[in-house]
Amino acid sequence: NKQVILKNYVTGGLPKESDMEVTEISIQLKVPEGIKDAILLKNLYLSCDPSMIDSMRKFETSYVPSFEPGSPLSGYGVAKVLDSTHPDYKKGDFIWGITGWEEYSLIKAPNQFFKIQHMDVPLTYYIGLLGMPGMTAYAGFYEVCSPKKGDYVYVSAASGAVGQLVGQFAKLLGCYVVGSAGSEEKVELLKNKFGFDAAFNYKEEPDLNAVLKRYFPEGIDIYFENVGGKMLDAVLLNMRIHGRIAACGMISQYNLDHPEGVHNLMHVVLKRVRIEGFVVTDFYHLYPQFLEMVIPQIKEGKITYVEDTAEGLEAAPAALIGLFTGRNVGKQLIVVSHD
Ligand code: NDP
Repeated sequence: NKQVILKNYVTGGLPKESDMEVTEISIQLKVPEGIKDAILLKNLYLSCDPSMIDSMRKFETSYVPSFEPGSPLSGYGVAKVLDSTHPDYKKGDFIWGITGWEEYSLIKAPNQFFKIQHMDVPLTYYIGLLGMPGMTAYAGFYEVCSPKKGDYVYVSAASGAVGQLVGQFAKLLGCYVVGSAGSEEKVELLKNKFGFDAAFNYKEEPDLNAVLKRYFPEGIDIYFENVGGKMLDAVLLNMRIHGRIAACGMISQYNLDHPEGVHNLMHVVLKRVRIEGFVVTDFYHLYPQFLEMVIPQIKEGKITYVEDTAEGLEAAPAALIGLFTGRNVGKQLIVVSHD
């Protein structure tokens, strides 16, 4: 069983590939005798998510638990049930949920796994579009942003796993949507593949306030916040009265020893802005409703999704770290096995 192990808790700065290592142990390919309510999974696709970086540190405050040094990382994945002693799962089921960064995972007392019912879409979608990031976009946009037709919407990290969907949902509702991303290739995707009205490369814009004024001369109704720091500060200067900010994540701050301050908070008062943080797992009860909306949209070609695929567990550490340099174009996933 090939595994990606965390060597030691990471301290300070951006984790490195060398904080992880690929090792191999031998295992039985069945649930061991006497273990009740367990499943043995063959992991097919694994997800790289920004929050995993938090789990590489010894944190007491994070909303995700820390990994154990010497053990495989864990994260969202799509897997096939090879063996089960749990009444709700049987051999041959396909599921998505939190699994190990390894070829096979023995999960005791599984909870928070979703059985995959619709097999007529790519299985990889269940770690992106139809998985946790998709639910994040859905819950964050529809439940937190109170969107309505005609709203001016701004999405940062817009070409990523979550952002690309937020933009498409907003367009389908009839909003004016602008996204930012960190390369020309990503800006082209936003405009030409995901249908954003406009997009810009934030790395080429020394004055974020000025660029936002250019794209939103009348101000921003909804900001879908993925980035934090200077971007949030510039957005605050450009919000409209009664604007909403869905605080989904602040990736620019995750690897700083001292997170940046936010200077323009007074604009929350002046513009009567509502800022609301949210965590996707609080919204998983809406998953059936989300599927009901989005599966037909996929089939009708109204929603599209870009994935960035790394082949094999050996490629996993670099793919995970790459989220923080913007190496990924679209949803970053790892193929462990195709069947
Ligand atoms: P992405 O697929 O968007 O990958 C991360 C991207 O962030 C990179 O490709 C890069 O794109 C951008 N980025 C990295 N560092 C910086 C930086 N310093 N400044 C600006 N942009 C940066 O990730 P996800 O879509 O999975 O996640 C997006 C956000 O949503 C994250 O903040 C994440 O933590 C959050 N999240 C929150 C959840 C919740 O429950 N609240 C659930 C899931 C995700 P670029 O080239 O454009 O810089």
